[in-house]
Amino acid sequence: MQPAFDFTQWPPLISDKDRNALQYRATSYALAHGLLYLPIGVQPPRLTSAIHAPISLFPTPFPRDQFEQAQRLQSIYNVLYSRIAMDTEFLDQTMGTEVGVGQVDEFTGQLWSGWRDLRERGLAQPLHLGLFRSDYLLHQRDSELSLKQVEFNTISSSFGALAQKTAEMHRSLETLTKFYTNSAHLTASNLPPNHSTSGLVEGLAAAHAAYNVDGSRILFVVQKGERNIFDQLWLEYELLEKYSIHVVRRTFDELANQTKISEKDFALIIESPDELPVEISTVYYRSGYTPDDFPTQTQYQTRFKLERSKAIKCPSIPLQLAGGKKVQQVLTEPGVLERFLCDETKYGSGGVFSAQALADLRTSWMEMWPLHLDGDTGVGQARGRALELVLKPQREGGGNNVYKEAIPAFLVSLPPRERPAWIAMELISPPLGLKNYLVRAGSEECVETEVVSELGIFGWSLFGEGKVISEKEAGWLVRTKGKDSNEGGVATGFSVLDSLVLVD
Ligand code: ADP
Ligand code: MG
Repeated sequence: MQPAFDFTQWPPLISDKDRNALQYRATSYALAHGLLYLPIGVQPPRLTSAIHAPISLFPTPFPRDQFEQAQRLQSIYNVLYSRIAMDTEFLDQTMGTEVGVGQVDEFTGQLWSGWRDLRERGLAQPLHLGLFRSDYLLHQRDSELSLKQVEFNTISSSFGALAQKTAEMHRSLETLTKFYTNSAHLTASNLPPNHSTSGLVEGLAAAHAAYNVDGSRILFVVQKGERNIFDQLWLEYELLEKYSIHVVRRTFDELANQTKISEKDFALIIESPDELPVEISTVYYRSGYTPDDFPTQTQYQTRFKLERSKAIKCPSIPLQLAGGKKVQQVLTEPGVLERFLCDETKYGSGGVFSAQALADLRTSWMEMWPLHLDGDTGVGQARGRALELVLKPQREGGGNNVYKEAIPAFLVSLPPRERPAWIAMELISPPLGLKNYLVRAGSEECVETEVVSELGIFGWSLFGEGKVISEKEAGWLVRTKGKDSNEGGVATGFSVLDSLVLVD
C-alpha cells in the first residue's frame, strides 16, 4: 500500500514570478505582524537590528490523523510529567548524585543537589507550573507513516508565539493568493488554527491566579542578549492585555542582587534601583536550561534562592529534571509508565489511564537504552547499530547530540565512567523527497531544498502534592530544517518556522 499522500510532490508547482510575489507577501506579512527575530551576526544583539524570523514559503503537509493523535497525547503527557516531578524517590534514583545521572553529569548534579538541600530546609510553594512541548517527527517504515517522539521539553519551551504568527501568515497567503497554485490541499479548512500564544499564557495566568496576591507580577528569567525576544514579548502583551498581569524581565546576573525573600512568608520580592519593590507570583524561565546560563556558582545560588521562595516556578527544579533525556529513556523500561499512570492506590481510580492510553504513548516512542547498559552491552549495541542511532547527553537547546557515523569514534573517546550520562536512541526516518522554499531575511531568493519537519505540541500543567492537576493542550509549532542537517533548532540557525497543511 502506498501512503495516501505523496510527499515527493510537495511543494506544488509555482512559476518564478509567482514565487517571488509569494515571498514578497510572506516577508511583508512577517515584518508587519511581529514575526521577528534578532540576527545572529550582530553582537551584542540590538532591538533596532530586528529582522523577520526564518520562515517556510509553503506550509508542510502532515497526516490529519497523526496530528490529531499528537494533540490527544498531550493531556496524558501533561499528567505524566507532572506526576514524575512529584515523585521525589524516582527523580533521586534517576537524576540524583548518589545513584543517578547526577553522579557523572555535573549540571544535572548541581541542580539536583541544590534541590535536595532546599527540600531539607523546606520549600515554601507546593505548586509547580509546566509549559511543555512534546516534539515529534513522522516516521516512515515501508509505506506506513507513524508519529514518533523526539523529546519532551519541560523548560523554556519556545516559539509558541512565533509559531502562531507563522500559521497566521500561511493562512493569510492562502486567503490573498491561494499560493498561486491549484493544489487541492491548500484550502483554508486544511490549515489548522493555532492558538499557542493564548494557550501558553493561559497556563501562566492560571499560576498567577492561584498565587492570588494583588499587584504581584510574573518574572521572566531571560538570557542576556536573547535573540528570540519577540517570541517572549508576545506572551507579555497577551498577559497584560487579556489578564492585566505585568511582567518583569531579568537575567540571572541582574537578579543576583535585586531579589529578596521575605522572612515572614518567603515571598519573592524584586528590588530594582529606580522602581518600587514588586512581589513575584510566578517565575517563568526562558533561561537556566543549559550550563552556559550558570558560568559561576552565583547563578546557581540565584536559581536556588528563587526556588526557595513562595513564587510558583515554571518549571521547578524537579520538573526541569523530569524533562531530562534520561527520564525519557527510563520511561521505556518495563513497568515505569505503569508506576505513573496505573497506580490506583496513589492516584485514585479516576487518576488511572486506560491500557489504550499507555499503548498510544508507547507507540509514539523509538527504542532507547542507556550507554552503560549491562557493562559493555549498551556501548556494543551503539557501535554495531551506529548508522541508525543518535546519542544524547543530558542537555537542552541543540548542538549536543552525536549522530550516526560520528558515533564509533565518539564511543572510543568517551571515558567509561561518563557512559551513564548518555542514552542511545533509534533514529526516526521521516518521509523522503519532501521539499519546501526556505525564506531567510536579507536574501533576495528563497532556497528550495529537501526538508524534514518537526511538530511540537504545547501543553501546560499546574499541579502540586495533594492538588488536582489542571492541564491543557496549548497549540503547536512546526520547525523545518534542510534534510542533511542532523539538528533542528531555529535559534541555532538550522531551521525555519513553518505550519501545517493537513492531508488525508
Ligand atoms: P535538544 O534538546 O538539543 O533540542 P533533541 O532531542 O530535540 O535535543 O535533538 C535535537 C534535534 O536532533 C531534533 O530537533 C531532531 O532534528 C534531531 N533528532 C533528535 N532525536 C532524533 C531521532 N531519534 N531521530 C531523528 N532525529 C532526531
Ligand atoms: Mg529539541
